[in-house]
Amino acid sequence: MTELLVTGGRVLHPDMTVERADVLVDQDDGEILAVEAPGELAGDDELDASDGLVMPGLVNAHTHVAMTLLRGYADDKPLSAWLQEDIWPVEAELTPEDVRVGAELGLIEMIQSGTTALSDMYFHVDEIAAAVKQAGLRAVLGHTAVTVGKDEEGARDDVRQSLETARDLDGTADGRISTTFQPHSLTTVGEQYLRKYVPEANAAELPIHLHANETTDEVAPLVEEHGVRPLEYADDVGLLAEDTFLAHCVHVDETEIDLLAETGTGVAHCPASNMKLASGMAPVQRLLDAGVTVGIGTDGAASNNDLDMFDEMRDAAMVGKLAADDASAVAAETVVEMATENGAELLGIDSGRIAPGANADLAVLSLDSARLTPAHDLVSHLAYAATGSDVRHTVCDGDVLMRDRDVTVFDERAVRERAQAHATAAVDRAPN
Ligand SMILES: [Zn+2]
Repeated sequence: MTELLVTGGRVLHPDMTVERADVLVDQDDGEILAVEAPGELAGDDELDASDGLVMPGLVNAHTHVAMTLLRGYADDKPLSAWLQEDIWPVEAELTPEDVRVGAELGLIEMIQSGTTALSDMYFHVDEIAAAVKQAGLRAVLGHTAVTVGKDEEGARDDVRQSLETARDLDGTADGRISTTFQPHSLTTVGEQYLRKYVPEANAAELPIHLHANETTDEVAPLVEEHGVRPLEYADDVGLLAEDTFLAHCVHVDETEIDLLAETGTGVAHCPASNMKLASGMAPVQRLLDAGVTVGIGTDGAASNNDLDMFDEMRDAAMVGKLAADDASAVAAETVVEMATENGAELLGIDSGRIAPGANADLAVLSLDSARLTPAHDLVSHLAYAATGSDVRHTVCDGDVLMRDRDVTVFDERAVRERAQAHATAAVDRAPN
């Protein structure tokens, strides 16, 4: 057994208290073995956490990691115009190689900002899985099915591919990759396909991840067509369940919030994307008060425009207060829990806490900076003051992926150069 000692720092405990402690990690099993007072533990290798905070690795509960290639390509438009005029035409041109390098770029950014697990929705998923395998991160992946604009056979094939990808990739990368069945959304996958394939996914015990209630433009036609709220329709087709989580849920009414709570369906809140696309403010405190598990996601880099979960925590707290018209809503401890334990719960992984028995997924944040001085309350700093660039080390599954800001699992410069070339070529191939 190879043991890594994370030593000299302070540790954020699951109850949100902070104290000086060392953390011993079993690198073979990727598990935290012990958290003890300084000097009590010894390991084969050491990771210096002096002047640092050892915290759970952040969980990005909803993203499209390869969309880094489209970062800054099109901004300042509402969701439907942005997708139809700018994003989908380029995405139609993306090759497997493009998706691979886009994913590598995004995974580097995640490692550099202390994220150790992600839930991704995209296509050419084998390439994303290969990038995740190399990165050493933990991921929930899937092929995202869209049926609108396709003939019967093309639509069926796409949904079947989502089921097959979920079956095939589950448990790969030494168990770091798990999967979800992914109908893109309630408006982009036809009812006949949901009625046919959601029961198949349930029978195969595949968790489900989809976008829901993101914009009023998406809610209104569903209400018109089905005569009920979108999440009542989702429940009727069998989508709401304990292992389902929905991205966004910006426009949900009390009935829908109750339905989420009753069925145990989770929510991946994406505050930056919702603000940038002017989609609206999700009622996060009301969801939490109702007992819904809410995690936090960046969404794709094209609508954010970064994958830094520290930014996302701050945005979640800020917009959560505005939505509730209450400065005490979505408090610092709450957003840190959302970005760690809640996200891990949505993804079905035993991460998001520094405690014996949990996955050894952690980050060490440097506290020796002007930005993080003085240290009245480190949980406040995580929510409101820290940024991803304050992360010194990142560890996932017991492996050190970044040490003293040096990413060990990729040649960052080479990936950046390839990403630039692939992004430029993809945009050049697209119409317009
Ligand atoms: Zn999304």
